[in-house]
Amino acid sequence: MNGDPGYYNPNPRRKHFVIWPILIAVIFGAYQYCGSEKFVNPETGRASHVALSEGQESALGLQSYQEVLSQSQIVTQGPEVDMVKRVMNRLIDATGEAGKSLDWQVSVVRDNQANAFCLPGGKMVVYTGILPIAQSEAGLATVLGHEMGHATSRHGSQRLLESKLTNTLLTGAQASLAFGDMDAQHKMEVMAALGAGTKFGVLLPFSRKHESEADEVGLYYMARAGYDPHEAIAFWKRMEESSRGGGQPPEFASTHPSHGTRIAGLEAHMQRAEEEYAKSQH
Ligand SMILES: [Zn+2]
Repeated sequence: MNGDPGYYNPNPRRKHFVIWPILIAVIFGAYQYCGSEKFVNPETGRASHVALSEGQESALGLQSYQEVLSQSQIVTQGPEVDMVKRVMNRLIDATGEAGKSLDWQVSVVRDNQANAFCLPGGKMVVYTGILPIAQSEAGLATVLGHEMGHATSRHGSQRLLESKLTNTLLTGAQASLAFGDMDAQHKMEVMAALGAGTKFGVLLPFSRKHESEADEVGLYYMARAGYDPHEAIAFWKRMEESSRGGGQPPEFASTHPSHGTRIAGLEAHMQRAEEEYAKSQH
């Protein structure tokens, strides 16, 4: 048809790439994956692969812990520290076999951020800003249990393996394009699409899976430690209210499950948590 710019284009866009670099990358990625340690989560039964040994995780975790603490205002004593340590100790007993190989330690940091995190290997940092949202020991057990669930589930090590594998494949794709005769503009478009595909299709869904797993594991820990698991739902509702105003990104673009998904996940595991809680009461 006249007027169709592509029809008379004397220099149509070249779209060829060569296949062998991506094949080599796939083989190398499979080798990386199969050579990595397999890990089965003792609480959820979910199988995964991890990039680091437990010893390497502990060493890296300790290093980050010391870095964070060296730049923070640490609270060494007082009612806040007593409460955090009391809850942490009850939760450690509830982690069972999974928690035995970790070298647990907790520090309270004077900071208004509503945050807490547990590094691989069991080093935990709790910011004082989370305490007003936690409100009670059960609320605090929700967030600490969730963070400890990330550590015992070895999510950091899983994430490292995921990024190694995706890097291998993206490098292969890049080489496939480089050895082909595709025009530069088209190459850039393909790489951008692959990058976005990896981020939204692989890495974010993985981290949301980790969030849901930490919620589930944390729920069992708190219940086993003698805290009413229903308090977890109340805590996440308060957390959502406190973060409102910033606006929640759509679920596909976020590392965290949406609020509704999180509550539905907790509800789904509530029966088992109630059983654990009942056992802890005598
Ligand atoms: Zn988390």
